Amino acid sequence: MFEKLIGRVRNRRLQAIAEKVGSDLAVDESDALYMLTTSDILELGLIAHALRTKLHGDTTYYGVNMNLNYTNVCELRCPLCAFSRSEGDADAYTLTLEGIEERVRGAVLSGIDEVHIVGGLNPGLKIGYFEEMLARIKSVKPDIFIVAFTAVEYDYFARVNNLSIEEVFARMKNAGLGALPGGGAEIFDPAIRNQIAPRKISGKRWLEIMKIAHGLGLKTNATLLYNHLERPEDIVHHLSHLRSLQDETGGFKTFVPLCYHDSGMGISSKRAQPTGLDEIRLFSASRIFLHNIPHLKALWMYLGEKMAQVLLHFGVDDLGGTYNNEKVVHAAGASTPDAGSEQHIKRLIESSGLKPVRSVASYGVIRAS
Ligand code: SF4
Repeated sequence: MFEKLIGRVRNRRLQAIAEKVGSDLAVDESDALYMLTTSDILELGLIAHALRTKLHGDTTYYGVNMNLNYTNVCELRCPLCAFSRSEGDADAYTLTLEGIEERVRGAVLSGIDEVHIVGGLNPGLKIGYFEEMLARIKSVKPDIFIVAFTAVEYDYFARVNNLSIEEVFARMKNAGLGALPGGGAEIFDPAIRNQIAPRKISGKRWLEIMKIAHGLGLKTNATLLYNHLERPEDIVHHLSHLRSLQDETGGFKTFVPLCYHDSGMGISSKRAQPTGLDEIRLFSASRIFLHNIPHLKALWMYLGEKMAQVLLHFGVDDLGGTYNNEKVVHAAGASTPDAGSEQHIKRLIESSGLKPVRSVASYGVIRAS
């Protein structure tokens, strides 16, 4: 496949990259920088799509899931965040365990396979709240898959409850945790991180917590927040750290780039939304550079469904899920609907000439078309 492909790539720099990819060699940081800035997107896409096809054939994953944002009260109030509130704000909320169970029950009746849970760092919530949350969700549907809490939340749970990270993971696994989402990574460059999320755990700590999770057999996603203050070099630095940890642990299953939605929050240098070419470069370069992370996810609610669909031919093999009741991205001004229908997601995949496979975050197949 790659021999034929190399013949079709005329750009000499991309040809050299295609040769490395064809020989299963990791591309280097200067290759990544080139891919993030080239305007040769069609040739770049040939390489990214060939690698995606080698890994997954024409299979394209999607999930039928719900989002649970249990509280928007957060101690950190990161400048990047439009979702969080301070305790006492008129629109601050914390869901009760009964309320959570009721929401999940309703979503289960509509046919979900998975719950995706993230929230703010709320000092009023202790470890028992989270254990009972997961246990109640499992009691509604024992085989439901739970993807819960970012590394930032785990670090907080450990600190406020005087527990080690290992103990927190053990207790959550015991209560029903299946995998971790990859949020909170943002961008690892300390100077930029200090501007967009000054009180959040460092990138180094985020990586440490993921390493512990992987060591305990928990698979995780990894994310990147882009389109705020970062330069292409900062993206390469971020991807490089992810790739190195993956070489050590093999615990990242999916990379999920997340576009920063500007809605007048506290970050000073505001950018326009990325162009289609920006998205294509970022996703393709990520697919090729992160050759050791099996899946690349494009979340339609961040990208818009049309862009997400196009990216299925630029390295993406996972279109995310239905995400009933998503609050975080929509608080930041995303104009996409807050729930996609399964039928519509399948149509996006099928009309791209690919095969939809309904799955959960472990990539266990629920239903293949
Ligand atoms: S990004 Fe997360 S940690 Fe930061 S304020 Fe928002 S909810 Fe809190």
